[in-house]
Amino acid sequence: MSYLNDLYQEVILDHSKNPRNCSALPEANRQAEGYNPLCGDKVTVYLKLEDGIVQDISFEGVGCAISTASASLMTEALKGKSVMEVEALFGSFHSLVTGKGGEPEQLGKLAVFHGVSEFPVRVKCATLVWHTLKAALKEKQQAVSTE
Ligand code: ZN
Repeated sequence: MSYLNDLYQEVILDHSKNPRNCSALPEANRQAEGYNPLCGDKVTVYLKLEDGIVQDISFEGVGCAISTASASLMTEALKGKSVMEVEALFGSFHSLVTGKGGEPEQLGKLAVFHGVSEFPVRVKCATLVWHTLKAALKEKQQAVSTE
């Protein structure tokens, strides 16, 4: 399993150093901000939602390697997905990182965060961008805080 762990770590490192979709999205029709005071992670999620489908998604922010990689991989995973698919993925992802099982095979690359469940403090880093995304979907005006 250690080979697999190394592979996971490599994906996380790659996405934290070269985050994908890391810019503002001028055509976004939804956005929300999230903050994880425990770690200092801050993120803004931009979403272009049309007919219940994520047409485009991006993020901006600063944070630790886990939060940045999570945001990068999430935006990659959600393009073209319906809101229902997004919610199902969030459920699986949340189960995975909190160590409640879930169905990693549904998660594709997002399964690299599997090891986070061993570090409870890091769970908030990994899920911050997802909670922020949910706020954007619900058009919540207030910034999300994990505390
Ligand atoms: Zn963090």
